[in-house]
Amino acid sequence: MKDFLIIGGGINGVGIARDAVGRGLKVTLVEKGDLASQTSSWSTKLIHGGIRYLENYEFRLVRESLREREVIKAIAPHISKPIRFVMPHVSHLRPAWLIRMGLLLYDWLGGFITLPKSKYVNLLNDFKDNPLKKNFQKGYEYSDLSIDDARLVLINAQDALYRGAEIILNTAVTNATRYDDHWVVELSNKKIIKTKVIINASGPFVLNILKDICKVQTNKSLRLVQGSHLIVKKLYEGEQAYILQQEDRRIVFMIPYQNDYTLIGTTDKEVDSYLNPTITPEEQSYLLNAVNFFLKNQISESDIVWTYAGIRPLLEDFNQSASKVTRDYEFDLDTKGAPILSIFGGKLTTYRKLAEHALEKLSTVISIKNTTWTDKEKLPGADISNYDIFNNLVPAPMKERFKQSYGNQTSKLHSYYMNCKDGGIKITEDLYEFEVAYLVKEEMASSVEDILFRRTKLGISFPKDKINILNDVLNKYL
Ligand SMILES: Cc1cc2nc3c(=O)[nH]c(=O)nc-3n(C[C@H](O)[C@H](O)[C@H](O)COP(=O)(O)OP(=O)(O)OC[C@H]3O[C@@H](n4cnc5c(N)ncnc54)[C@H](O)[C@@H]3O)c2cc1C
Repeated sequence: MKDFLIIGGGINGVGIARDAVGRGLKVTLVEKGDLASQTSSWSTKLIHGGIRYLENYEFRLVRESLREREVIKAIAPHISKPIRFVMPHVSHLRPAWLIRMGLLLYDWLGGFITLPKSKYVNLLNDFKDNPLKKNFQKGYEYSDLSIDDARLVLINAQDALYRGAEIILNTAVTNATRYDDHWVVELSNKKIIKTKVIINASGPFVLNILKDICKVQTNKSLRLVQGSHLIVKKLYEGEQAYILQQEDRRIVFMIPYQNDYTLIGTTDKEVDSYLNPTITPEEQSYLLNAVNFFLKNQISESDIVWTYAGIRPLLEDFNQSASKVTRDYEFDLDTKGAPILSIFGGKLTTYRKLAEHALEKLSTVISIKNTTWTDKEKLPGADISNYDIFNNLVPAPMKERFKQSYGNQTSKLHSYYMNCKDGGIKITEDLYEFEVAYLVKEEMASSVEDILFRRTKLGISFPKDKINILNDVLNKYL
């Protein structure tokens, strides 16, 4: 009998799995697709306090997020990167005193922080390559972290696995029968699992799992709010990102992405269905207009190289504006029979703290050690001192990519290189057989998409005529 059966391999499911198994509980996690195949890989890829939540007085959320930013920087330094955000001043939207006060609060609210503090900037002189129109002269700069969202999920899952959790991918939970002291859960591969507690970490699917699969009623409701992003060819040199205030009082980010691109997002569009989120033409023009208002060199549809969209499963707080609905999380613990804990809302940034709070909540129904530990133990790959093992075996940009993706797990990757003569089949300049073998055997990848869009982010520029070769190589190792 398991202690926990976790439904969902997004950030919240894997975060709880890692924490729980580390406290000695027997855990199985079931994910119907790949790890991070839904919301958790469709984010803006920021670990941030959420400066704009200050306007909604969400001080608890901002404080917790700022503290978590420091923790994630320490436990996952290889996949996260400090980044400076530049906010051009638009006086008729927010007065300078308000911005200054907000930034002071942002610097102070999280307690001790290692990231550089906010400051005033001269947009015309302080940047080597300023992409903004000349009429934007004044601005402010502050810090946050960017993160590889899908790999944050992966390394949490890996750590849970190393510590003894069972992780079942590409398999859906199809039915759950409740008894007084346990659940009998059926999976799409016909396997049956008995568990004392179900944890419903299925993000946008939370109500579907609760009502249709577990047959449990709840009075909580969700606001499904789609957020879309554009990826365009790099718009400027320099490592700074921009936070651009809009006439509708929303903000849109423009963030350097993977050396060659700029990421633009996001939107807040209310939708009825959480299935197959796709950017709409209106969202696309909204984002293009949002950046063109500020950019010297205007961009158009033809500059777009990729788009993606995801659904925020937000906790309904009856706020009229979708962009103002709270990004905080809540739990629903039902104990009319064996317990089920459902998660509503949340952010990548707060996943670790959410896991601690979930276990605290569950300690009323199952015996759980109350020693918190996930803020002290680094995630797999986090020690980046020993990544240079490839010397001159692969080109420098590839070595840099390995460092930022695998950290010190690169030494394991190197052993796969040594097992394939000269790295094996060359699929493209950036991808060889040995890495595919590593991703299948060590990182639970099982499809072309897992490799191109989640374990690596090579998919955006991956040549279509190489997909078949990649597929053949992949099949050798499955
Ligand atoms: C556009 C956008 C931008 C965002 N940007 C940021 C950001 O920059 N920073 C930040 O901190 N947060 C951000 N967020 C929020 C963050 O991405 C989400 O809060 C988080 O990813 C939710 O994770 P989750 O684990 O709850 O859900 P998910 O990642 O959706 O995981 C749920 C999983 O459950 C699985 N599942 C569903 N049904 C079943 C079943 N029957 N059996 C088995 N598995 C099942 C699904 O396949 C899915 O993988 C953003 C969100 C969006 C949409």
